[in-house]
Amino acid sequence: MLSAIVGINWGDEGKGRMVDLLGADYDVVVRYQGGNNAGHTVINDKGKFILNLLPSGILREDTVNVMGVGMVVDIEHLCGEIRALESKGIRITPDNLMISDKAAVCMPYHVDLDVLEEERLGDRKQGSTKRGIAPAYSDKYMHKSIRMGDLLFPGTLGDKLANILEWKNLMIAGGYGQEPFEVRNGETAGWLRRFGEPLIPFIRDTGRYLSEAAAAGKNILFEAQLGALRDIDYGIHPYTTSSQTLASYAGTGAGIPGARLDRVIGVIKAYSSSVGGGPFVTEMEGAEAEALREAGGEYGAATGRPRRVGAFDIPASRYGVKTQGADCLALTKLDVLAYMDKIPICVAYEVNGERTERFVTGDELEAAKPIYEYAEGFKQDISQCRRKSDLPKAAADYIRRLEEAVGCAIRYVSVGPKREDYIDMSR
Ligand code: GDP
Repeated sequence: MLSAIVGINWGDEGKGRMVDLLGADYDVVVRYQGGNNAGHTVINDKGKFILNLLPSGILREDTVNVMGVGMVVDIEHLCGEIRALESKGIRITPDNLMISDKAAVCMPYHVDLDVLEEERLGDRKQGSTKRGIAPAYSDKYMHKSIRMGDLLFPGTLGDKLANILEWKNLMIAGGYGQEPFEVRNGETAGWLRRFGEPLIPFIRDTGRYLSEAAAAGKNILFEAQLGALRDIDYGIHPYTTSSQTLASYAGTGAGIPGARLDRVIGVIKAYSSSVGGGPFVTEMEGAEAEALREAGGEYGAATGRPRRVGAFDIPASRYGVKTQGADCLALTKLDVLAYMDKIPICVAYEVNGERTERFVTGDELEAAKPIYEYAEGFKQDISQCRRKSDLPKAAADYIRRLEEAVGCAIRYVSVGPKREDYIDMSR
């Protein structure tokens, strides 16, 4: 069985937590896009873990984890992440971690360029996490990347790097007026050696491994980072990430472009949150926002930044469900809404004086105002509920309302951050 777990909203829906839970049914977990710009927080019997680059299956003993072709990998960050997990007793070997030879390396000059551009933009900044992701992907499409597989050939790596730096400096020195990277060439080559060498045993043709695993009938789970609304093509341009967050890209980004998915599980949050810039129609302000942020612990896993929060947004979520092609949904963080007397739900937008149920884009989205309806609050701790019948009626009604509105069945409801804090609605 080939399945994908993907985000329906702006990211931070709790995908890592769902991969950790459902990963038990899979032999292989693959990350197929993105870099260390977002983080999954996973809490299970082994402790609390923040994963930026490693697939969430790394926390299960027998799962093979693959970092796919579509990723950009900051090798210094990855070495640190591996060390941090190993220090908590997680075993990481070439048998349970494989890194695609075709994934691009996210280099120190990518991070520098990301920071320089955000500084240049000043108050027009796009809310980059400044981890170098956009510059790394841009270079990939300019075919000027160092790829993970290049680390296997130290004899030619220096020349590849020198050629790229000659070009990069046109922008770094000529454009931004910074010290050119030639001067630091030795330093950059040293960085590649220092953090590349420990990773060499993990680098391989992961596409071949995955094809063989699929042919042998193994269960493979594709794990996405961020959500539909941050997809480079279908998200809220230009406030998107730099890669494809959609399930339809899973096979391609993983290394088996011909793969057909059997199941797409969309992870959707019981309210909205967003890190970074861009239009956010249901955004709450002041004390109302503070209360939801506190209740939901909405601070970025990768950056610690307070997340913007708001009410559930039906037009945006319906669009997310459609673009992901979700077969079923996992609704997360329902427990967080326990404090609300009335739960706001955005059912439509008002754009230039007209009501629309469509998820609009560009300037229309900037101008959209939310139209709310209010659901009854359930006003009780539901974090111990384990069956559908344990849920208070108001919570069950809220779930049904969302399910109907977005046009997809909610199969799982998560009521807490720990692995077992969930309800399987099919039982
Ligand atoms: P991801 O990137 O989609 O995996 O999401 P994050 O890990 O950035 O954010 C999800 C956060 O919510 C993490 O801190 C999780 O531990 C937590 N979380 C996930 N599901 C639930 C839930 O149902 N209830 C509560 N209270 N917290 C949850």
